[in-house]
Amino acid sequence: MATTGSPFLAQPYQGIATFGRQPHTRVLAGVDVTILGVPYDSSTSYRSGARFGPRAIREQSLLLWGYNNAQQVSPFEVLNVVDYGDVDVIPVDVSATHRAIELTASTILHAGSKLITLGGDHSISLPLLRAHHKKHGPLAVVHFDAHPDTWDEEYPTYKYSHGTPFRRAIEEQLIDTEAYLQIGIRGPTSGPQDYIDARQLGGRLMTIDEANDLGVPAILTEVRQRVGSRPLYVTLDIDAVDPAFAPGTGTPEVGGFTSHQMLRLLRGLSGLNLVGADVVEVAPPYDPQHITAILAANLAFELLSLMARK
Ligand code: MN
Ligand code: MN
Repeated sequence: MATTGSPFLAQPYQGIATFGRQPHTRVLAGVDVTILGVPYDSSTSYRSGARFGPRAIREQSLLLWGYNNAQQVSPFEVLNVVDYGDVDVIPVDVSATHRAIELTASTILHAGSKLITLGGDHSISLPLLRAHHKKHGPLAVVHFDAHPDTWDEEYPTYKYSHGTPFRRAIEEQLIDTEAYLQIGIRGPTSGPQDYIDARQLGGRLMTIDEANDLGVPAILTEVRQRVGSRPLYVTLDIDAVDPAFAPGTGTPEVGGFTSHQMLRLLRGLSGLNLVGADVVEVAPPYDPQHITAILAANLAFELLSLMARK
């Protein structure tokens, strides 16, 4: 249990909204897992709004009671978890924002804490991968998404949009491509080249059709075979989930995972060497009844529970 008393004695609607009602602090001594927000969405290509994601996810995380019945663990008791607050972003400057993300993430990792980051658009994963690579070397990456995010440039000369981070990360050799899986890929693109290009980078692109034909257990078998004992980073674009379950996102694609499939895909990563994770692309302006933020809060809780079980 984290430091300031017993948060679960209070009612969920009481007090200031930190993730899981954990203490807000930047003092990292003895901290096992840090929750970090990145309220940045200036690299979106279609609908912006993910800058409001971290705050919405925190708000909906208040109802996370402590025990995870599926994973049989109480992560807030097993781990010392804190909410660091948000990275200081500069909405008109992607380079400066990415530097700030990398610096903040590196500070947290250097202090000996693991990191779960709440986005923000998917461009933020590049500086997060840089920080984790500095600590762990080349990373296995399980990437849930409707989109490969391996475009070269979104527009001529614009190399750092939310459509490009994983190409950049592969170019920078942050990712071990033998252990890189993109899962849930779907939707119309401008042509077949998008998927051809993504596959040529060396990762395993699994479309939603393949994923549903395989089913959750077989997907997880393949994930475990590819990841092995490598340090694993999980990046979860909420648009991997069907817009019926996660409408609050910038580039929705129909025909995605159910929320239950997504939960089970995360739970099935137990026992792998999970070193870090992010949940991105939650855009509250398109999120009726907070349905997407509730899901994102629960998915972050599953990731935290995986870290607690290790
Ligand atoms: Mn996406
Ligand atoms: Mn994405």
